Amino acid sequence: RAAQSSGERTRAYVPSMGQMFLRRFQLVTQFRQSMETGQVKIHYQPKIALPSREVLGVEALVRWRHPDFGDLHPDEFVPAVEAAGLVDALTDFVLDKALIKVRMWMDRGLRIGVAVNLSVRSLANLDFPDGVAAALARHRVPPELLTLELTESGVMADPQRALPVLRALHNLGVVLAVDDFGTGYSSLAYLRQLPVDEVKIDKSFVFGMGSDLGDLAVVRSIVELGHSLGLTVVAEGVEEDVARDQLAAMGCDVAQGYLISRPLSEERLEAWLQARTAQARGLRDEMVLTL
Ligand code: C2E
Ligand code: MG
Ligand code: MG
Ligand code: MG
Repeated sequence: RAAQSSGERTRAYVPSMGQMFLRRFQLVTQFRQSMETGQVKIHYQPKIALPSREVLGVEALVRWRHPDFGDLHPDEFVPAVEAAGLVDALTDFVLDKALIKVRMWMDRGLRIGVAVNLSVRSLANLDFPDGVAAALARHRVPPELLTLELTESGVMADPQRALPVLRALHNLGVVLAVDDFGTGYSSLAYLRQLPVDEVKIDKSFVFGMGSDLGDLAVVRSIVELGHSLGLTVVAEGVEEDVARDQLAAMGCDVAQGYLISRPLSEERLEAWLQARTAQARGLRDEMVLTL
């Protein structure tokens, strides 16, 4: 009896194809509704300039507080949302929420940009750039405060198909970034043919750079080549002081990672920004006092 119930328990961890299909199906049918009921939320992760540590902007990262499955990360549901053809609705949702925040900061005299992750599918949608232009106009946000992130594998899967949309987005004046750089098969030289402004070094290399000379070499060469092509270079996955200092020393422009902050809910981001500006003000006052 004991063996039988443990057997059952084991089976419960290996869902059948039917169960997996059912879970996916439930996910997508509930997703649209969840965007309206507030169960789909955006978390924001700060990005800082190196070496000044000034807050430049935040990356919008979607979260789904699912009533049955708990807090889901994008890797768990974005593929299903894409497969169901709902990803444009997701992108519009995130873009809208993110631009509301930027506008709110602008109204308070803060210049903080936002980065939104795109699905490859948006690059095949020729209407997408008009949608972005309309969203910027609606929220009265200048294009340079919006970054759109595309994964390297996504763009490189079909560069010819992506190119018209990339060009149109570039013409709007938004910042185009290639995310997770270094994990795909493309070279930076090839990237030169695309109208991109920024590369984000994949976190796997940044994690390893303190202990692995190979990772350190990869990071260094992306920074150098990126700069020689006129690109802004961002490192994601900065978890330790050493990594931040090494990146600053090699001239990497921007850092993002748990060391600076984890992705934060809207409320926690506000608190973080306030603490940060108070600290900066305190430092300036101190300098005045000592002078
Ligand atoms: P990404 O754009 O490369 O985002 C960075 C991921 O790394 C985030 O995971 C973030 O939480 C995590 N991260 C950041 N700093 C650190 C660090 O120092 N250490 C570690 N261990 N992890 C760190 P998350 O939020 O689970 O997002 C996963 C991916 O899902 C994103 O990767 C992005 O490609 C995609 N994604 C997120 N939001 C959206 C969205 O709104 N639309 C679409 N299409 N994709 C999204
Ligand atoms: Mg990203
Ligand atoms: Mg990434
Ligand atoms: Mg990623």
